[in-house]
Amino acid sequence: MIDKKTLKLSLKSLRDFAKGRLPDEKLLELDARDECPLDIVRYMCSPDQLAIQLLFVPEEFGGMGGGAFDVYCICEEMARIDLGIATSVLATFLGSDPITVGATPEQKKLWLSRIAEQGILFAYGATEPEAGSDLPALRTTADRVLKDDRIVGYKINGNKQWISNGGVADAYSVLANAPGGPTWFILEKGAKGFTHDEPEDKHGIRLSNTAALAFNDVYVDADRLIGGVEGQGLLQAQAVFGYTRLMVAAFGLGAGWAALDRAIPYSTKRIQGGAPLSEKQGYTHKLIVPHVVRLEASRAYIEETAERIDAGEGSLNTEGAIAKYMASEAGNQAAEASIQALGGYGYTHEYMVEKISRDVRITTIYEGTSEIMEMTISRDRWQSHLKTRGQHYHEEARRLEALQKQHPDVGANIAALSLHALAEVMEKARLARLTRYQHVLLRLGELIAYAECAGCLARRAARIAENKLNEKANRRFDLPALSPISRIFARDAALKVAEEGLRLIIAGSGVTDAEVPAFETSLGLTAVHRAQAGLISDMDYVADVLYDRVAKRAAVAA
Ligand SMILES: Cc1cc2nc3c(=O)[nH]c(=O)nc-3n(C[C@H](O)[C@H](O)[C@H](O)COP(=O)(O)OP(=O)(O)OC[C@H]3O[C@@H](n4cnc5c(N)ncnc54)[C@H](O)[C@@H]3O)c2cc1C
Repeated sequence: MIDKKTLKLSLKSLRDFAKGRLPDEKLLELDARDECPLDIVRYMCSPDQLAIQLLFVPEEFGGMGGGAFDVYCICEEMARIDLGIATSVLATFLGSDPITVGATPEQKKLWLSRIAEQGILFAYGATEPEAGSDLPALRTTADRVLKDDRIVGYKINGNKQWISNGGVADAYSVLANAPGGPTWFILEKGAKGFTHDEPEDKHGIRLSNTAALAFNDVYVDADRLIGGVEGQGLLQAQAVFGYTRLMVAAFGLGAGWAALDRAIPYSTKRIQGGAPLSEKQGYTHKLIVPHVVRLEASRAYIEETAERIDAGEGSLNTEGAIAKYMASEAGNQAAEASIQALGGYGYTHEYMVEKISRDVRITTIYEGTSEIMEMTISRDRWQSHLKTRGQHYHEEARRLEALQKQHPDVGANIAALSLHALAEVMEKARLARLTRYQHVLLRLGELIAYAECAGCLARRAARIAENKLNEKANRRFDLPALSPISRIFARDAALKVAEEGLRLIIAGSGVTDAEVPAFETSLGLTAVHRAQAGLISDMDYVADVLYDRVAKRAAVAA
């Protein structure tokens, strides 16, 4: 992990660099030309220039050994600049991941040092034309090449699809089926029989190069097999999902905020109906405040997960999935709302929110789609529900009720309502065997993500109150602002879990007509509805914070 000062300096250099070299006009020009600015990407990853890649590389191999929290901060900042360029930088990190987790010491020294010292660009080649979400269906093969009964190398045949940096990387991690099972290999550009297609003509992240790869009897020496043992590929890929999904979560967060940070100042200057849009409650409470709230709920989850990864709690794949799911969906909604917030201007290229909206769209697709995230979350937490005989979320709710006693303003009691309701929905689904419906399973994934985020955001607010927030944590909102943000999100989560949970159970015939009232009671519906009291005044306060009107409000009140 790096210290706070170094992280701050890195973030500042990134911002200064973007200000100087990547003004809006340049980004729009590259976007229109559908061009990856390779010189910029190389500059960012060059050891004697910006050297962003050093953050990702462990110290023993010449890097700075940034932890998950550091990487989240950098990814958010890169996404605020341009998600295409951010993706190009991330691709090197993804490409080197199988090496970081699974390579032999010699392989790590060779390849990670080359990334740190020479700034080589990597690509991560997992997806295939027929194997996206279902990676085990991959068809690329790696056949052993024997000499005197000894494996000296492999011949790789097959295709990869949608590979970031596919046409520009210096080295590639490629997943292929060896006789022992899926296995990662390292290939270098220019290898005989290895070609890539023209860049894809994409909806967004047009500054990132995405290309299909083809392997026609490409020979690699045996020492290019990552880790030296066949069949470890899927495990190695799984080992870093928590971490890598956290980065895409940070992308959703950064891009969502980049859009809102254009919509907010715009609305202070745009006069309609005799006053700035920022003073219209129907505008702010639909197009701005709810998106700020959702993004900050995602941030809470990202930060907590990053801290836990850095504390050595394991790969936290499910938490990474929740973070990615919530932040990427929130980022998309924020960007979409920002177009609306700018009206006709938002619909043009010039005002940038249209580009951000196209760019952030990718975050719910790559590194696992939102639907795959819902499935991952639901399956894992279903096990927790079963193992604790339905108590998992009730216990979590009780912890929040205890927190409420110390911090009555952070919305912990409302978050607890959502978690109690979730436990009841899951138990009813278990009794009626409703997870046989994939639709129910995936929707439960969404409800779980909302309820967990509500609890997490309340904890974050409480930590601010106790002065225990991570020293590197984002401090855009102080306690008086984060408390209403937390309460607003918790109200949404509680209503969503209780109402949509009820609907799912009834829809799947999990209760009879006569049983509905008792089930409604068990969900705490009345309490959930009553908890909506205060919503509008909390939204008013958050809008005042966003528009710097808190002092004025206090003066008026006095
Ligand atoms: C711009 C871009 C860059 C990328 N970069 C890389 C990269 O660098 N390296 C790499 O390896 N890959 C990369 N990818 C691939 C990306 O990870 C995949 O596109 C993604 O995992 C989805 O796979 P797919 O496109 O085959 O869609 P599919 O898996 O076919 O999914 C299509 C739809 O069906 C849904 N779905 C799939 N399975 C199920 C199921 N079992 N139940 C319910 N719904 C389901 C999905 O959620 C999705 O909505 C990139 C993709 C893009 C577009």
